[in-house]
Amino acid sequence: MAGSCGPAIVCWSGMSHFSFRLIAWQQHSGRHDLPWQGSRDPYRIWVSEIMLQQTQVSTVIPYYQRFMERFPDLPALAAADLEEVLRCWSGLGYYSRARHLHAAACHVVYELGGVFPREAMLAVQLPGVGRSTAAAIAVFSAGAREAILDGNVKRVLARHQGVHGWPGDAQVEARLWELARSLLPGQDIEAYTQGLMDLGATVCTRRAPRCAFCPLQADCVARLGGLADQLPTPRPRIPVQQQQLRLMIYSHAGRVWLERRPAPGIWGGLWCFARGDSDEPGAQCERTWGVPAIRVNCGEVFSHTLTHRRLHIEPVMVELRDAPRHTSVGRWLAPDEALTMAIPVPVRRLLQPLAAAADSKRTTSGAQYNGMPVPPADQVGR
Ligand code: SF4
Repeated sequence: MAGSCGPAIVCWSGMSHFSFRLIAWQQHSGRHDLPWQGSRDPYRIWVSEIMLQQTQVSTVIPYYQRFMERFPDLPALAAADLEEVLRCWSGLGYYSRARHLHAAACHVVYELGGVFPREAMLAVQLPGVGRSTAAAIAVFSAGAREAILDGNVKRVLARHQGVHGWPGDAQVEARLWELARSLLPGQDIEAYTQGLMDLGATVCTRRAPRCAFCPLQADCVARLGGLADQLPTPRPRIPVQQQQLRLMIYSHAGRVWLERRPAPGIWGGLWCFARGDSDEPGAQCERTWGVPAIRVNCGEVFSHTLTHRRLHIEPVMVELRDAPRHTSVGRWLAPDEALTMAIPVPVRRLLQPLAAAADSKRTTSGAQYNGMPVPPADQVGR
């Protein structure tokens, strides 16, 4: 457990008490069996670090395992279609991460001779790789003495060192980087770095930190001053933008229409139902496809929250009377086939009952599929 001296006191081998305690704690109580641990392969480390940005470990694990099965190495990822990469990412959110992964893999394979950079100063030049991610790659793939500063580490340092101010503020962030560098140990950098990550994720949590189990409790400014619930200083409030979004679920002969969203933008690169406009849905159908709607059915509005935006999604099922006369950029797909595409969570939620209904029609009566059940109103995650 914790020693009683502060981080300025240096122990053997040039280690501060801060790093000494953290390393000992990580070796005894940290996480050692995560699927990306035990490897020095920068590719595996890089993918895990990108997936872990803004996403919890428990959510990432099944995605990481599926991703590694499908794209076991850099050449496999570079050779894949972006479409397929997005499909593997579907449901994990923040899709620009997947686009950057694919772009970076192509860059390394086709322009850097296929050798993934282990040095932080080179890795940081890849698309989607920030300073902390580059440092983590260097630490875990090469044992480099680099400082990381992800969200968990910012929280631990802000509390332990008593740093006030929102960590997203440039001056506060610069102070935290300075601290992160000054606390680096002279050895065991991997255990130290993993210890910071583990402590932030399992002990010094955002809400209700478990200070009694913390190796840093003896000299933690936040604990001693009763400030743990005030540090780090929260981000100044940004009003959540409310947005209405009508999704047109066009159907014909048992298939639904999906089109790819442009990037950048919400769900860029993913497959989505067409967006409704201000027209009456039947009129929009006739204008889009050159044929009238045989049936228009408005579903219940449901909410979906993005980072600073709350979407109020109105699904409108529109069945075309005849085969469409116009063409557009997209695909007609059976609902179960559409579910295999790279689609965002709300589209998946809308497709699932359609696929189930189509399946039920096929297996019970063989009748032509034309029903469009309305999914329940719901609060859905990213
Ligand atoms: S003592 Fe508490 S607040 Fe301080 S670093 Fe440990 S868990 Fe966080």
